[in-house]
Amino acid sequence: MNSNITHKKRSNDNAEISCSEDPENMSFFSQGLRRRKLNLCSCSSLILIIILITIIYFSEILLFGWRRGDVFCGPNLASETKLTELKNKVNFLTSILKRFGISEKEYIDEHLPKIFVVTPTHARPVQKAELTRLKNVFLHIPALHWIIVEDANGKSELVTNFLKTSSIPHTHLFKQTPVQWKINQKDPRWIKPRGVLQRNEGISWLRENISPTEKGVVYFADDDNTYSIELFKEMRYTQKISVWPVGFVGGIMVEKPLLDEKGRVRGFNANWRPDRKFPLDMASFAVNLGLLVRSTDAFFSHRSQRGFLETDFLEKLATRDDLEPKADSCTKVFVWHTQTSDPDLNREQKLKVQGKRSNLGMEV
Ligand code: UDP
Ligand code: MN
Repeated sequence: MNSNITHKKRSNDNAEISCSEDPENMSFFSQGLRRRKLNLCSCSSLILIIILITIIYFSEILLFGWRRGDVFCGPNLASETKLTELKNKVNFLTSILKRFGISEKEYIDEHLPKIFVVTPTHARPVQKAELTRLKNVFLHIPALHWIIVEDANGKSELVTNFLKTSSIPHTHLFKQTPVQWKINQKDPRWIKPRGVLQRNEGISWLRENISPTEKGVVYFADDDNTYSIELFKEMRYTQKISVWPVGFVGGIMVEKPLLDEKGRVRGFNANWRPDRKFPLDMASFAVNLGLLVRSTDAFFSHRSQRGFLETDFLEKLATRDDLEPKADSCTKVFVWHTQTSDPDLNREQKLKVQGKRSNLGMEV
């Protein structure tokens, strides 16, 4: 009965089992079970292998992809990020150049003629303020070399510190004016020329250190004038002597060269001693570097007649026909002869007497 039931059951199962009525067949049955187990085993092994392969495959991607820096981000994303960063930096720097009126072309051009600015300076309460005003303009000018010459018997701490932090290519010199050529406090400013030996010191340095074939221009910039950025753009390509108008000089609003219809200098509007060959202020001209270096007898002189310092110097370098009018045919003012007045320090004198100086241990 039991076997019948088994038989029926088996016959319901499959042909292989339905005919297994004897013990032999029974062992065959257990074999089948084993085989099924085996099938299951091989099936799960296969799944396991597939899982393993998948894990290895993805771990490869993870490992090498991570190393390449493009996992989760797609290929080349790291380099794209770097590129965007660099583009932002370029945009930022370009906007700075634009903001400060600096020509990108000028900065890239390594053959740009150099501008050598010679500045005589002397110790007084406003010295650092004056030099700072000049520095703030010079920082905008590419290929500018500042030669600062102190009227002193050595380099002062103030100017040394100032130049150290200026970020402008510079040369620091000194030359003391002998007392007989100094003006007394009560004398009018025009009685003796100032900055004479200091400018000459700058000229000597150029002759000793610069090759006569080097392209450039020399400008004598006193420390108390007001200079615009445009002025330096005008002077850079000077062939011999460039000239332009100057504000507040010679007792008039503007002293300027006068041009003929062909744009050549035919005269000057100077009020005082217009008979001078070059009735020009120190701030109104620049000299070609090679010309100045080669013209070894061209110096400023304390022996020049009062008011003849500039004309005597220029006569050693050029004729009127050599003058190159700049600043839109001498119609624009890019420099002003602003003379800073001494600040009122009457209370400071009292503090000094009491040993309570306001600037004790401080550079002003
Ligand atoms: N200067 C100088 N020693 C002095 C007086 C002036 O080196 O004893 C410098 C001054 O700092 C300036 C230049 O010489 O750079 C011209 O001097 P100042 O401005 O007094 O002359 P002005 O403009 O009145 O002709
Ligand atoms: Mn001055």
